[in-house]
Amino acid sequence: MNPSALDPTLQPELARALHSYVMESGRLVVVEVDSDGRIMGANVTFRSRFAGFADVRGESLSRFLASDDEMPDIEPGLAHRTAIARIFNTVMGGENYLFHAYPLNAHTLLIGEPAKTDDSDVIGRMGNLALEMSRLVRDLRKANHDLAVANELNQQLARTDALTHLANRRYFMERLQQGVVQAQSRRHALSILMMDLDHFKQINDSFGHAAGDTALTAFAELLRALVRMSDLPGRLGGEEFGLYMFDTHRHVAAAVAERIRASTWELRPNGLDHRLSVSIGIAVLEPEEDAEALIRRADAALYQAKNQGRNRVVIAGPESEHATGREENAPRKD
Ligand code: GH3
Ligand code: MG
Ligand code: MG
Repeated sequence: MNPSALDPTLQPELARALHSYVMESGRLVVVEVDSDGRIMGANVTFRSRFAGFADVRGESLSRFLASDDEMPDIEPGLAHRTAIARIFNTVMGGENYLFHAYPLNAHTLLIGEPAKTDDSDVIGRMGNLALEMSRLVRDLRKANHDLAVANELNQQLARTDALTHLANRRYFMERLQQGVVQAQSRRHALSILMMDLDHFKQINDSFGHAAGDTALTAFAELLRALVRMSDLPGRLGGEEFGLYMFDTHRHVAAAVAERIRASTWELRPNGLDHRLSVSIGIAVLEPEEDAEALIRRADAALYQAKNQGRNRVVIAGPESEHATGREENAPRKD
């Protein structure tokens, strides 16, 4: 099938054709007015019908309209956003013109066509219809826009943890899974950190749940401050956090983990004289490994960090070295 002129990819050609018809067919009058209602330009048809071909630039448009015509919607300076239609009587010859007004930055473009006197009632109603339609279109656009904003907000909410505003577990896992697939196919490095605040129950017990919440928020802030734009920190559960780092090798991951551990020790959430500490397990993606196995190894390393006395970082070895965290009884996935 041949491409249609109405095909959006042919719009420059379509625009040229429409422009030449509107400007040169002799049927339509085209006039552009500024925000004071002064004429900035007009096509030949306008000048021939209204001004004997004289230059009309700088003249007030109202000069050419019958004095009893009101100009409600194209009143100078009125910034309307959509095309509107109105019938005006011209001074010369008392002809009726149906004008459509189009907003053009701060200006207004008016395109008019002659309307027969006996048609004026019908055209008047058409004008109203066009006005009504343009209102509907405007309302629809606004409704669509509001809907898109609401959708975006909903998506944002569905991805974030309400307390810390970090990625929630579901979004973290989704991104990690995508990252692992990408890292495997492009042979990129990828590291993850599993972090669990130490003896967190004691904070709640000693200082109250609200103080616990503040400590979680402070830790989340610390994560946000320490990681790169391309890293994704997430809250995976109660006082358990994850950090996903694309393109990150073992030694960098270890340095980041150590920085997080040391900074956590320096945190004083609530101004309390109570040290917060975190245990961290690191796993670096192995060839062929999937996201689940990577997380199992990071969890196992975290478990070791807890067992070795907490407030420390452990880097996971290959999965075969770990007995913990493996789902021995889980059905095989192959
Ligand atoms: P461990 O060093 O072994 O990790 O000890 P822990 O006390 O941190 O671990 P445990 O799993 O026994 O307790 C976790 C505590 O975290 C218990 C729970 O009340 C608290 N917690 C989980 N989610 C929240 C939360 O959203 N707000 C507050 N304030 N506390 C939470
Ligand atoms: Mg804990
Ligand atoms: Mg825990």
